[in-house]
Amino acid sequence: MYTRLGDNAVMGTERHDAIVVGAGHNGLVTACYLARAGLRVLVLERRYLVGGACVTEEIFPGFKVSTAAYVNSLFRPEIVRDLRLAEYGFEVLPRQPSSFTPYPDGRCLLMGSDAVLNHREISKFSPRDAERYPQYEAMLERVAAFVEPTLTLTPPDLLRPGIRDVLRFMALGRSFRRLGPAASEVVEILTGPARAVLDRWFESTALKATLATDAIIGAMASPSMSGTGYVLLHHVMGETGGKRGAWGYVRGGMGGLTQALARAARDLGVQIRCEAEVTRILLQDGRVTGVALAGGDEYRAPIVASNADARVTFQRLLDPRALPAEFVAAVDRISYESASLKINVALAELPSFRACPGTEPGPQHRGTIHICPDLDYIERAYDDAKYGRPSERPVLECTIPSVVDPTVAPTGQHLMSIFVQYAPYALRESTWDDIGDRFADRCFDVLDEYAPNFRRSVLARQVLTPLDLERIFNLTGGNIFQGAMTPSQLFSLRPVPGYAGYRTPVKGLYLCGAAAHPGGGVMGTPGWNAAREILPRAASGSGSGPLEAELAWREKQPKNRDGGATGNY
Ligand SMILES: Cc1cc2nc3c(=O)[nH]c(=O)nc-3n(C[C@H](O)[C@H](O)[C@H](O)COP(=O)(O)OP(=O)(O)OC[C@H]3O[C@@H](n4cnc5c(N)ncnc54)[C@H](O)[C@@H]3O)c2cc1C
Repeated sequence: MYTRLGDNAVMGTERHDAIVVGAGHNGLVTACYLARAGLRVLVLERRYLVGGACVTEEIFPGFKVSTAAYVNSLFRPEIVRDLRLAEYGFEVLPRQPSSFTPYPDGRCLLMGSDAVLNHREISKFSPRDAERYPQYEAMLERVAAFVEPTLTLTPPDLLRPGIRDVLRFMALGRSFRRLGPAASEVVEILTGPARAVLDRWFESTALKATLATDAIIGAMASPSMSGTGYVLLHHVMGETGGKRGAWGYVRGGMGGLTQALARAARDLGVQIRCEAEVTRILLQDGRVTGVALAGGDEYRAPIVASNADARVTFQRLLDPRALPAEFVAAVDRISYESASLKINVALAELPSFRACPGTEPGPQHRGTIHICPDLDYIERAYDDAKYGRPSERPVLECTIPSVVDPTVAPTGQHLMSIFVQYAPYALRESTWDDIGDRFADRCFDVLDEYAPNFRRSVLARQVLTPLDLERIFNLTGGNIFQGAMTPSQLFSLRPVPGYAGYRTPVKGLYLCGAAAHPGGGVMGTPGWNAAREILPRAASGSGSGPLEAELAWREKQPKNRDGGATGNY
């Protein structure tokens, strides 16, 4: 199919209209929508499999491990419908209850999307909080109702606003004005610290700690730092089975989603090549002309969409001299600070918690298990990271998908995912290659205090330090969101001011992954928005994205969705 050109350059005899660099879930979404519109699309992925950070791999024989991302809520139902992903095998399994916060002294808090359960459980710690919790959920719902439509909106350009940008600002302004008294809630959540919000609403340490974990996932920040309010909101904006904020397991692991996307893409005529690392984006006269691979192959297309992060795209795949100096400087300023580490564990038996003993599957095993007793514990864990050390007492978020989805582990055995904070990428006195295993042992010691049979039931483990996340997934700084999700890096400022519209200074080159608005998480939205901007008819204002239609999306959302505000990754 491909012919050699010269010594080491290979170019397809087929013409491609667009090349997508990277087969993360967003790259695949972009590829599908471009192909649906009739473009001939080629996807080039450096790893041996598609999916980026949303994959299933058999790390331990017989176990289907969600190597990186492990729960879904944010992925857009519209994309599932458009691409008929259910027919290609994508299925989300709800978790009820969705959250379990145990204490070594025997107390525990179970929560989920059942209002009666939430009331009963929170009452154990504070009857006042139990009464207030539904009002807190309603507040988050109001804020989410304002923010959600902006996720599918191409952010207005702050630096060179055209008529389209001005119209977008005006529509946003109208939407903000409609909030009335809720406007101050929105501003606080979008810019403030999660701790201030939680302290004002609640008195129970268990409830506050449980909710606060959503505010720090993937962030190098403690809940008392500005910006964590948005991270909290980001994690409660999705849904599972129509329930707001509920997270579910993907059957067969997270790769169930990306494999379904890849099947849909192939049926739409997309070509996907794995083990095809792009090393250069090719330009001529300031326009993109194609890409070159590590082995020397070259592919030509007038459109290239990069699913890699902004640093990789603009500093490694392009010669910065081909870009405006102020753009290069802005890319240099992007924060990739991160402090997340992941441990995947094969277990001979389920953890038996002091707070809820038993190794038979129970409600305590179904959702996210929070090892995080109170807000000060999180603050102290962050303090260590601030000084370049992994937390002495880390915050652990554990999930055991095999309890809900038996297909991911051999009969009688279990799979546990432990998402750990804080493990700062930049260590002061050691390297992650030296201390990764010791730190994982420390996490296991902490878990043993809550479930004494944990360590002895471990059959195998995989420790992914921030350095491993960078090496395996090409995530700069190990940042799980392709760039921090701080207010200075969101909406019109993502990835950098002036380039939030998926376009770049290079004609024909686009960003289509989490590096672009609305950022990280398995959402598909950056890929969807990027496709809309790439397609000429969308660029001229028709297609799925005219401004008012985008904002009207909110009106179409089902009202009064029930569910828990415990996002619980
Ligand atoms: C440990 C971890 C846990 C997480 N947990 C969750 C979770 O439970 N739920 C959730 O919603 N989100 C979670 N996230 C975040 C979420 O997974 C990411 O934000 C999301 O997957 C980003 O998708 P993407 O398609 O934009 O990019 P990526 O998934 O980063 O994919 C980019 C792809 O591009 C490829 N690529 C890069 N450079 C090149 C090149 N030069 N040539 C060819 N290919 C290239 C990469 O190999 C990769 O496949 C987690 C992330 C991590 C790392």
